[in-house]
Amino acid sequence: MIMTRPVKISLVVPCYNEQAALPVFYQETVHVLRDMACTYELIFINDGSTDDTLSLLRDLGADDPHVTYLSFSRNFGKEAAMYAGFVHASGDYVAVMDADMQDPPSLLPQMLAILQGGGYDSVATCRHTRKGEPKMRSWFAKKFYMIINKISDADIVDGARDFRLMKKEMVDVIVSMDEYNRFSKGIFGWIGFRTYWMDYENVERVAGKTKWDFWKLFRYAVDGIINFSQVPLSIASWFGLLMTLCAFIFLAVIIVRKLIFGDPVAGWASTICVIIFIGGIQLFCLGIMGQYIAKTYMETKKRPHYIIAESNKKDIQKIK
Ligand code: UDP
Ligand code: MG
Repeated sequence: MIMTRPVKISLVVPCYNEQAALPVFYQETVHVLRDMACTYELIFINDGSTDDTLSLLRDLGADDPHVTYLSFSRNFGKEAAMYAGFVHASGDYVAVMDADMQDPPSLLPQMLAILQGGGYDSVATCRHTRKGEPKMRSWFAKKFYMIINKISDADIVDGARDFRLMKKEMVDVIVSMDEYNRFSKGIFGWIGFRTYWMDYENVERVAGKTKWDFWKLFRYAVDGIINFSQVPLSIASWFGLLMTLCAFIFLAVIIVRKLIFGDPVAGWASTICVIIFIGGIQLFCLGIMGQYIAKTYMETKKRPHYIIAESNKKDIQKIK
């Protein structure tokens, strides 16, 4: 008789100041997981929280053998937290979930069924409404998805969340991509594999506050574009070409004016405008190059993505 072992799911949960949401998340998620025909592990990553998140995790880790917590030495950001979770996940299927219940655990059985049915390597989620989000944020988000899909291979669906369940093989590939500047939404799309997209209604945070203000999101979007596209780098060449063309046209106009009307070339103001305009474009293009150089600089340093200061499990890799 062949004994088949039950499948194992690893849930990766980045937590940054989530003391209010964490108990709700734990209860609801464990409730769902217990009803599923699988074993599971919960990997919580304390991303340098300044509230009681760590002591809550210590308690959970002591009471429940399914819980692993990894506590960073400082706040390294959600990307690093997800990466640490992927590195330590041992399940056949691995999911990333926010600790604030915006990623409903009740979807997990359906997601697992889709993967077990064959035909797909990951089930990703996206919100089909942006209800409850500020209008300006939605507008910028839409533009961001439009631009990044046009100029890169990242293939990101509008409204995509990080919440997804993946086969271990896919996670192994993600872990092997150890670039320092991580933009997971892009990485998920870039590596390919067969992804099933699941729509769901936007859910509000159960407790606590979002960690993303408008400017943080804007920076994140710019990072995404720089990480996945070289198109901005060619902007300088295009501007250069355009300005040369304009210069030729202006020259022709000035020569014709001089020959036909005998106009002396006047216009101190217009000269200054042109100088400032060209100066502006040059600085803008230098800035773009600077962004790429800064990223390359950080990559070449090969600094660790995160440093784990504490965990309830022994023999874990503390730095990667
Ligand atoms: N998070 C993190 N490190 C950070 C910021 C956020 O680990 O520096 C976690 C946070 O605890 C939550 C998830 O990432 O579990 C998503 O954050 P949030 O809910 O604030 O983002 P939003 O859902 O508003 O986009
Ligand atoms: Mg959230």
